[in-house]
Amino acid sequence: EWVNFVEFFHHVIDRFEMAKQQNVTFKRKLPNTEIFVEIDEDKMTQVLYNIISNALKYSPEGGQITFKLRELNEKIEVSISDQGVGIPKENVKKIFERFYRVDKARSRKLGGTGLGLAIAKEMVEMHGGSIWASSKEGKGTTIYFTLPYEPAQEDEWL
Ligand code: ATP
Ligand code: MG
Repeated sequence: EWVNFVEFFHHVIDRFEMAKQQNVTFKRKLPNTEIFVEIDEDKMTQVLYNIISNALKYSPEGGQITFKLRELNEKIEVSISDQGVGIPKENVKKIFERFYRVDKARSRKLGGTGLGLAIAKEMVEMHGGSIWASSKEGKGTTIYFTLPYEPAQEDEWL
């Protein structure tokens, strides 16, 4: 269905902000406009849930998570950045593979199965978008994804 992605993203972030136990600050850089995108809300909630859970899981005490949404040519780009442990360069591409986890010892302590991002990738691609990561060890990680949409045509309403 058609969903105002700005409002939808705020709702998901709100829920995490209310539930979070850690001392982590949330910063939102979302536009003040409405951006309607055709999505499956449940699946897209799952995508955001998986990405934000990781950001929280790998964030240090007192860290910040930044949520961004911007409009590009015929697509929107969503990004979620943390100031956590980061991912070694050679492993960044592999985090979207099923059951892949960077550091076995570290991951075991933090729990999880290594499926979260593989599921997110599948669902983003199902919507016609793409997903990728950029990360610096010891500095933090940003997960990006895009979703196609048709920008409102002014003249459609004339
Ligand atoms: P699950 O999501 O199934 O509970 P998981 O979090 O280990 O388990 P994914 O979400 O698929 O699995 O992530 C895969 C791996 O990528 C993680 O184990 C972790 O090593 C790395 N990773 C993912 N997100 C981050 C992040 N924000 N910062 C650092 N490492 C990350
Ligand atoms: Mg995960």
